[in-house]
Amino acid sequence: MEEAKRIGGTTKVYGLIGHPIGHTFSPLIHNTLASLTDANLVYTAFPVEDSARIGDAMNGAFALGVQGLNVTVPYKSAVIPFLADIDPIAREIGAVNTLVRTENGYKGYNTDYIGLRQALESEGVVFPYAEGETEKAEYLKPLAGRSGVNAAADTARDVSNDNTVHDKNAAADGTTVSLSQLRGENLSVRPIHVRNVVLIGAGGAARAAGFMCGTVGLRHLTILNRTVEKAQSLANDINRVFPDMEIRVLPLSDAGRVGYEEFLAIQCTNVGLYPHTDEIPTTSTTFYRRIQAAYDCIYNPEETQFLAQVHRRGKRGWCGIDMLLWQGIAAYQYWTGITVTGEQAAAVRSELVGFLQNGKRSNNIVLAGFMGSGKSTIGEALAKRLGWQHMDTDELIVQATGKTISQIFRDEGEEGFRTIETKTLQNLVDAYGSGETASEKATATSDAHTDSGKRKAGAKGIVFSTGGGIVLQPENRALLRKLGRVVLLDISAETVVARLGRDHQRPLLQGPDRMKKVRTLLSRRQGAYHECADVTVEVDDKSPDVVVKEIMERTGRQ
Ligand code: NAP
Repeated sequence: MEEAKRIGGTTKVYGLIGHPIGHTFSPLIHNTLASLTDANLVYTAFPVEDSARIGDAMNGAFALGVQGLNVTVPYKSAVIPFLADIDPIAREIGAVNTLVRTENGYKGYNTDYIGLRQALESEGVVFPYAEGETEKAEYLKPLAGRSGVNAAADTARDVSNDNTVHDKNAAADGTTVSLSQLRGENLSVRPIHVRNVVLIGAGGAARAAGFMCGTVGLRHLTILNRTVEKAQSLANDINRVFPDMEIRVLPLSDAGRVGYEEFLAIQCTNVGLYPHTDEIPTTSTTFYRRIQAAYDCIYNPEETQFLAQVHRRGKRGWCGIDMLLWQGIAAYQYWTGITVTGEQAAAVRSELVGFLQNGKRSNNIVLAGFMGSGKSTIGEALAKRLGWQHMDTDELIVQATGKTISQIFRDEGEEGFRTIETKTLQNLVDAYGSGETASEKATATSDAHTDSGKRKAGAKGIVFSTGGGIVLQPENRALLRKLGRVVLLDISAETVVARLGRDHQRPLLQGPDRMKKVRTLLSRRQGAYHECADVTVEVDDKSPDVVVKEIMERTGRQ
């Protein structure tokens, strides 16, 4: 109803052209931004089925007064001949995804490379930024003076003496898009200094990524692609603009032959995209071993098989959702001149995450982490804040067996305990893993045809606290993710020992040299924790209240 009242005779129209576009997230991004920034505009999808008529579609949109368009597959290059003007880097990339109305027609921009850069920097990736390099990036200037995105993209990272990255743009007045504000964080993230990049793919996303590498001063790039000729053609195009870059080209089947000791991998193929979620672009263990960090442009699913390999090795890897968000925000700012604040960006991100997860994952939050990380205390506090139920897998096991955890370890060994743990987890997934609790299922069935019914069914969940070693079994990691969104409470060995120094209950902690024991166990489990985590929250030096708040923000519950 509100939406209907908002749209009137003076409402400006924006949209997306492509085919097929039935599952696009762009209307959600732009209509949410319009509502948050109080702009009198509406955004919708215009499928263009006949590729021969893309020029007609653009002329028709212009004649009808459409103020701006996004362009998606398969038209990112096809629209170029019909533009009145084109931004220099979009011309070099050879693809545009944003059309801005001018007097004579549309001007084309590429905001994918801005989105990717912003997404990486917001995770702590630090590029070389050779002297003068960012200034040389003339391409970023069209946004200058009116865009928080530009400010952030240009100067975001500031590495201080303690080797953490601080957010320069976290302006107190909220007038620029702050990187950490995006996720509701007020945190410093560990920096990852990148010198070498490996791109997987040579299509539209890879082109944007390759040119982004040039704009941030990177000198060493390898492009892996199934079709080597396409990779070579991309390398030539990048070298024309950035002649100092050393670019190697390899067939995807030679991924293990990438020459760098370590590198940032940017996955730009369709491999692993829903519904083909079992596929992976390469299985080379040599390749994965050398990855410093990885970005997968795919965001559905959130964790592809490619990212799972990266996480399994305890490395940081991110899905494409922030690239999607930031390219959308950059387009919105080009069109409207409105500066999107960090809070608004965070709100759109929450909507996107919610939309992505709707119907696929349950609402439940599952806390995982090493002993002493506070899973039970934080689980209880979080459930209270959310008005949800709290369950603890260790407590459920104690109730079901009538024995303490130590007794089970003594009587049946660790293996026996792990078997009981897996059964417990499987039972929980069977009962609560579908996204609704039993009582909500009943409510949802009775009024699912109403909006409020759908929202109510989607809103509630259960907070699960889990045992510290539950992630050791591969089947448990899959079950945890079926049970809900997994939040890893990340703790250092020092904090574990400080918190549990005198503990005499936990079987695995007993004996001499506790610090050594904790370090060994923690490093053995680290890969498994990261493999199943959707969200990682560092807990050292933080009170339960602060951790609870951070979890709520990071899981879009606030
Ligand atoms: P594209 O232009 O069609 O390029 C597809 C790429 O994937 C090509 O390099 C192609 O290799 C490779 N590929 C496809 N199937 C393959 C297979 N079975 N084995 C090996 N390689 C294969 O597509 P795009 O526009 O670059 O998009 C690529 C992905 O990025 C999509 O999943 C898209 O959703 C995502 N994306 C995300 C964002 C974001 O905002 N997060 C933005 C843009 C794109 P060949 O050259 O050999 O055919």
